Amino acid sequence: MTLIPETPTRSVPAAPRPSMRLRPGFATEAVHAGQDPDPLTGAVIPPIYQTSTFTQHGVETLKNGYEYSRGGNPTRNGFEAQLAALEGGGAAFAFASGIAAEDAFLRAVLRPGDTVIAAAETYGGTHRLLTQIYARWGVRTVFVDPSSPRDLERELDSDPTVRLLWLETPTNPLLTVVDIAAWSRIAHAHGALVAVDNTFASPALQTPLAHGADAVIHSTTKYIGGHSDVLGGAVVVGGAQWEGTALEELVRFQQFAAGAVAGPQDSFLAARGLKTLGVRMRQHCENAGILAEWLTGHPRVQEVLYPGLPQHPTHELAAAQMSGYGGLITFRVSGGEAAARRTAESTELFGLSVSLGGVESLISHPATMTHGSTRGTPQAPPADAVRVSVGIEDVEHLVDDLDRALRA
Ligand SMILES: *Cc1c(COP(=O)(O)O)cnc(C)c1O
Repeated sequence: MTLIPETPTRSVPAAPRPSMRLRPGFATEAVHAGQDPDPLTGAVIPPIYQTSTFTQHGVETLKNGYEYSRGGNPTRNGFEAQLAALEGGGAAFAFASGIAAEDAFLRAVLRPGDTVIAAAETYGGTHRLLTQIYARWGVRTVFVDPSSPRDLERELDSDPTVRLLWLETPTNPLLTVVDIAAWSRIAHAHGALVAVDNTFASPALQTPLAHGADAVIHSTTKYIGGHSDVLGGAVVVGGAQWEGTALEELVRFQQFAAGAVAGPQDSFLAARGLKTLGVRMRQHCENAGILAEWLTGHPRVQEVLYPGLPQHPTHELAAAQMSGYGGLITFRVSGGEAAARRTAESTELFGLSVSLGGVESLISHPATMTHGSTRGTPQAPPADAVRVSVGIEDVEHLVDDLDRALRA
């Protein structure tokens, strides 16, 4: 059991400036889009349609279009409409996990012989999916430095089989911000699609479709669910066509035909989480901004990677592309891997755990945990790095806890 610390006495620096601004309309859409009261009873919260199938008016006439829950379920579809609105997309599709969403999207647009260019530092599971599963089905992945559009251009120029650019921004775990608009322009000029994994920023901080991406991928397990109590994923598409078919239709077909859909209970939890994303993210950003600044002055810390710090290599891009800097901080400790592992194992409030985006703070050692599958490759993160997902607790408690762990 976690002991709730006594009221802290430490004073921490005040939040730097307003830590986040939501786009106009976001807060209202988060609560209401796709979430109309139940027409039958007026229940404010639409019911969880815990059903596999639906009775029909006749053999060819459905009731409100519903036939079988793999094809459509009102709870899932309500969440999909809510998320599509917040991402500014034409349609969203919810899956049983973030990886299932990635898999459905990749199968919707790729064939054997195609090449994917992925910005290095992708989520470890994405790296595994591309290099250990898709590689066996004849899809090659080339990783490029996420801070070098020139490398991207060189790859695209030299390889006509590239069909997809896969971006994640901010990257995991180094929190490099990638210029979605610039990279999308380059990819589109070479006829490739652009997908952005928006899990770390969430639509509260960044809407990739507005910057030119064709599709957005989410692990809704993280900030969207927001309470570490549900696994889920989503694909959101704008109006792009791919080989003569709307991307929306290609992904809809995969969701139905391959079937890794989000269930009604999971969709309900994700929708409930999404309603409070804006207010939660405001607190994540505020706490992370304070912690990042405090860590910068800590004697046991060598480097703090947080896009909100002016010295972060992609701070200006983050300020332009994002409406807040997020709740994740990676920092490199003095004393190498052993010290990083000891720090991660010595906190009390921060739970030692993979995952992120919940209301509770978590800490991890990426080199052995989330990115274990990249060990020995150029994509492996530095061994002295610790990543924290900053929750919405009292920030003074978080400072105290990290200080004790760093000195352990
Ligand atoms: C967690 C995560 C995923 C995978 O999502 P699951 O819900 O765990 O399958 C993909 N991308 C990023 C950035 C993630 O953090």
